[in-house]
Amino acid sequence: MSLQVVEPRIRGFISLTSHPEGCAANIREQVEVVRRAGITAHIGTVLVIGSSTGYGLASALVACFGYGARTLGVCLEKAPEETKTATAGWYNLAEAHRLARAEGRTFETINGDAFSAEVKQQTVDALRRLGPVDLVIYSLAAPRRRDTHTGEIWNSTLKPIGRRYTGKAFDLRGEAVTSASIDAATRDEIENTVRVMGGEDWSDWIELLLHEQLLAPGARTIAYSYIGPELTAAIYRDGTIGHAKEHLEETGHTLDRVLGGAVGGGAWVSVNKAVVTQASAAIPAVPLYLSVLMKLMKERGTHEEAIEQIVRLFRDYAAPGVTPATDAHGRIRLDDREMAPDVQSEVAAIWEQLSTENFRALSDYGGYRLAFHRLFGFDVPGVDYGAPTEVNRSLDQVGSRPAESR
Ligand code: NAD
Repeated sequence: MSLQVVEPRIRGFISLTSHPEGCAANIREQVEVVRRAGITAHIGTVLVIGSSTGYGLASALVACFGYGARTLGVCLEKAPEETKTATAGWYNLAEAHRLARAEGRTFETINGDAFSAEVKQQTVDALRRLGPVDLVIYSLAAPRRRDTHTGEIWNSTLKPIGRRYTGKAFDLRGEAVTSASIDAATRDEIENTVRVMGGEDWSDWIELLLHEQLLAPGARTIAYSYIGPELTAAIYRDGTIGHAKEHLEETGHTLDRVLGGAVGGGAWVSVNKAVVTQASAAIPAVPLYLSVLMKLMKERGTHEEAIEQIVRLFRDYAAPGVTPATDAHGRIRLDDREMAPDVQSEVAAIWEQLSTENFRALSDYGGYRLAFHRLFGFDVPGVDYGAPTEVNRSLDQVGSRPAESR
């Protein structure tokens, strides 16, 4: 037992603390969104790689609470320590497991490095018990990858390719519109980012599951990508991370052929819309872009969080019997409402005018800030932040004793 009053300790694009009850309330709200979707279809077993926050968490919740799937997630989260809260993803999953248990659903987690051979083997062992997988969601957003055979470490970078980038950015600490200058990536930085965020590890997972005969007939896999607007192109889509995403998309085509031949299934990349997550907050122009985007999409009634996007992904593209409609490059486009020409031309017009003096009026920065705080369980309606809360919440993990308190 460790009851504490937990305060936010936000440092730029991260909070050093997470509020357990706030994270739990976030999960209950997302599960409510899933329930309201009125899903009646069923999926047998779903594996989500990157399952504790953002798009992967939303995928696991839709699979488990919407489609009644036996859901296995892989993530990398920190347990609570004597003087430290756990990371938000830990508390998210602790609550998701609790809800699933209460309803007799199966939701299990492997907390460890998804790139490692050990975690892949643990996953294989767990799936022998849960049954072959019908759907594999690949939703890792990782800063680095350690080669499981050689121990070499590759770091992912967010840099432009070819020439130095200078453009509008946002200082989350000082709440000011600034200018960011980022040097062009070296060849090594480009290659290393592809190693981390490209398709190699996705392919390793699918090849392993095929080899172990753990993919059900008709099994599908979907990995997440982003394209985004012209104004972030130099730093995102045309930069190191975009290069990695191109590799992910090419890998998708290869896996599609492999899965088609082996189990009559398929592989897709889904281009999702920009949402407030820990990964997106770290990209220089994105918090400011998202603040403007949120304002325009809320005005149009088209605003979606990760959970609404994933409800739509499963319903319209990934549900049993549905053949996904794709763009000319074979990609699922969940970013259609973000990329609507009227939205993008208005974003671009506002972008030109943004300054420290006017960004609050011209964007939904208040909405962005709230969503950002909520990632860590703060500013969640109905939570009593003055009351001590149990920070030592357990997360039952595959391979650990069920009632273990960590
Ligand atoms: P996120 O930071 O919220 O989640 C990342 C997940 O990966 C977490 O569950 C984390 O625990 C897990 N993870 C990281 N390193 C790991 C490791 N070594 N081993 C196991 N798990 C690990 O990120 P997100 O924004 O939801 O991004 C997920 C995917 O969606 C990414 O491919 C991203 O490019 C894509 N995407 C994001 C956005 C956006 O705006 N956030 C938009 C479109 C696509």
